[in-house]
Amino acid sequence: LNTNCFVVNINGRLILIDTGVGSILAPMVGHLKQNLTAAGISPEDIDTVLLTHIHPDHTNGMINADGTKAFPNAEVVVNYTEYNFWMDETNMSQNADEIEKGNFMLAKAALTPYESSIRTFSNDESEPVHGIKAIEAPGHTPGHTAYLIESNGDKLLIWGDIIHNATLQLLRPDEKVAMDYNPVQAVTTRKRILDLAANERLLVSGMHLDFPGFRHIKKEGNHYVQVLERWKTEL
Ligand SMILES: [Zn+2]
Repeated sequence: LNTNCFVVNINGRLILIDTGVGSILAPMVGHLKQNLTAAGISPEDIDTVLLTHIHPDHTNGMINADGTKAFPNAEVVVNYTEYNFWMDETNMSQNADEIEKGNFMLAKAALTPYESSIRTFSNDESEPVHGIKAIEAPGHTPGHTAYLIESNGDKLLIWGDIIHNATLQLLRPDEKVAMDYNPVQAVTTRKRILDLAANERLLVSGMHLDFPGFRHIKKEGNHYVQVLERWKTEL
């Protein structure tokens, strides 16, 4: 899987949505910092790191290889249920799966350096960051969240991990991935978010959609098709 991260500029404030995997799978991936530099953004410029959920391919780019903060000036904003699930020692010790245990440890490693600058939001808070609406999307993880951004009448839905394999899961939205915390709920959520995207004709993107990652969704019978957005170098 490739993992996309998004920088949103709202009135000069830079919000980074998810941070990729960082150095744990180097050197193949973990090029966020290089790509930010190429876009003229230094890590110090990021004001907010907003998370769709806590999984190593989304959160371990928050830290450098030595475990220090990769974004020293950023406040971290994450759903309350999501944060508490991953920070709860009981959940980790009760979880027998070795991969899942590793995810708990990686979550701790990524978030602990930011402890004093983490802000959680509840499901009642519709706009956890000014200008960005939260849409509950549980299933893949307990507090998985999609984000809707509106600007000058245009809307973009960043849906996190609603889809891991677009070819397969649009055609067969009931297909689950091994990493789903609650696979049945993940399927229900996937269909609800895909329906929302199709009905509202939203421009969508997600963390595991192929480059350039932007598309529209059309519903056909009981499956979906994607209409790819052309790559644009300028807004
Ligand atoms: Zn993911």
